[in-house]
Amino acid sequence: KKERKKLGLTSKIFIALIAGAILGIIINKFSTSEFISEYIVEGVFYVIGQGFIRGMQMLVVPLVFASLVTGSMSMGDTTKLGKIGIKTMAFYLVTTALAIAIALGVANIINPGLNLNLPLPEAGTGEVVESMDMRETILNIIPTNPISAMANGEMLQIIIFALIVGVILAKLGEKAKGFANIMVELNDIMMEMTMFVMKFAPIGVFALITRTFSNIGLDAITPIFKYMISVVTGLGVQLFLVYLVLLFILARVNPFKFLRKFAPVMGFAFSTASSNATIPLNINKLEEMGVSKKVSSFTIPLGATINMDGTAIMQGVAVVFMAQAYGINLTIADYGTVILAATLASVGTAGIPSVGLVTLTMVLSSVGLPTEGIALIMGIDRILDMARTAINITGDAVCSTVIAKQEGLLNLDRFNL
Ligand code: ASP
Repeated sequence: KKERKKLGLTSKIFIALIAGAILGIIINKFSTSEFISEYIVEGVFYVIGQGFIRGMQMLVVPLVFASLVTGSMSMGDTTKLGKIGIKTMAFYLVTTALAIAIALGVANIINPGLNLNLPLPEAGTGEVVESMDMRETILNIIPTNPISAMANGEMLQIIIFALIVGVILAKLGEKAKGFANIMVELNDIMMEMTMFVMKFAPIGVFALITRTFSNIGLDAITPIFKYMISVVTGLGVQLFLVYLVLLFILARVNPFKFLRKFAPVMGFAFSTASSNATIPLNINKLEEMGVSKKVSSFTIPLGATINMDGTAIMQGVAVVFMAQAYGINLTIADYGTVILAATLASVGTAGIPSVGLVTLTMVLSSVGLPTEGIALIMGIDRILDMARTAINITGDAVCSTVIAKQEGLLNLDRFNL
């Protein structure tokens, strides 16, 4: 009975997605830009859409903290968390590097920036900025003040702190039982709250999608269109040739079953363009699919923060696009640099809308491309942001499923249900 109720919500979200897109396109075609900006972009659609996103964001910090503390605590045996931790990191880094390689390949076949012939702007001081950014990215993992990390939603710092608290709680055992119980209860409260906020998903998604489509409409000039096609193709290759194949090889489960069950989470990520906002739903859905929270409470928040394969794909394509548009030749060494820089950028990209566009500057300057070119792709980035976020969170879920299976923490009966 419970199952049917959930399916109802899922279908409602999909109906909202499609209805919103159609309405948005109609509004874009048939109404004035004043109407659109007053009533759709700024008006009631804005309030409903943002209200829903804020509701999801409200959950994130306490949920991640509580679920990671209880997760790492219940692992108890720290060597096991260590093993899962190493496997997770390896999985995330390898899939991200693969993603960028795919993006570079696809972009070199479609050639989105050819014949654009943009004039080169004055040379900047990219290199200094870049090395600073990488150092900061690494140092930023350690919170100087865990309370301010939580207040500011610094996910990576919260994750590190929560993991340490959980491991210590496990070590202290009886001595810290009271606090451990509070964490377990906080976790329950946050999961319940997630269910509550999710009840508003269909209306929230409808408002968000209508707004995006009425704002942008369907027309775009050829290079931009080719750029978008390249990114979407790269995302598709990553999904079908990397994720589904890895699920089959490493976890020995039916990848299409995974895809069918997981699709609503992708739909949610697509409409919010936020990996962070998708964390609660991702963990819930994986649990429904038989993936133990012992794994997902660690892998999902971590992945939402550092594993952005979709973002990396957009950045890889953008590098080729800009190089072609400015008529700059990239060497093999440049491609190597791009893979490294975009992997780091993916780690440093926060799981909220549009951040991938910001960290793209770091990737472009790593190979001496002018960052001014970003203006070209800014207008349509929202749509790609939505698509890449869906891939970002799928990578996290695939990793969770693979590791759960290998550690004996995947309930196959539930997965195959
Ligand atoms: N919106 C993306 C995410 O939340 C990040 C980005 O690429 O902008 O995963």
